Amino acid sequence: MWCNVIFIVIVFTIAFIGFTGYSLAKDNANNLAPGQHSRVELADKLGQLPPKNFLEEPMGAMCYDTAVPLNRTQFICPICGEMTVYHSSFGDNIEELPTYLLLVRKITKIDVKLDDTQFCKKCNPGISSPQYCLLVKYGKNEEAHKTCGITDEDINLLYEFSEGSKDHITSYTRDKRPMTEYKKRLEELLGTKIKI
Ligand SMILES: [Zn+2]
Repeated sequence: MWCNVIFIVIVFTIAFIGFTGYSLAKDNANNLAPGQHSRVELADKLGQLPPKNFLEEPMGAMCYDTAVPLNRTQFICPICGEMTVYHSSFGDNIEELPTYLLLVRKITKIDVKLDDTQFCKKCNPGISSPQYCLLVKYGKNEEAHKTCGITDEDINLLYEFSEGSKDHITSYTRDKRPMTEYKKRLEELLGTKIKI
């Protein structure tokens, strides 16, 4: 049980920090936080800086309750505060949440937020296979562009692009691939045309 409590605290802390950062960027009087790109700037941008080697950094810890036959993971909704319990043997991907939150936090040059609310049974009672979504905004008054069904590969790709990398390091095989191969996916995630 103590393990679950620690996990809840970790998820709350990470979610709060991520939400706070997003809100600060969102509420900026000039619509964009310092250093963030407008839709037009993104379309024209090809950064010069090399990407940070963030894949080497430690990921968030996960805790499981060993007192029961199935691994239990508790999700606390950042919107309504309700708890939803998942059993990992059911095939959900709730275990990825701490990792996804940390990866999204590394993206500082685009106003992006991880939307994990599909995992809340109260907010989304009709969803049997919850997915992670990314919300990208280009200004305070613009509606966020939402892409669901995203993976850690997508978040890494967005981070590398935002840092001006010419290459993408694949998540599993660690292959170095030209960023141009991922132009279509980047445009889907960003909701705008880009030049690579
Ligand atoms: Zn909820």
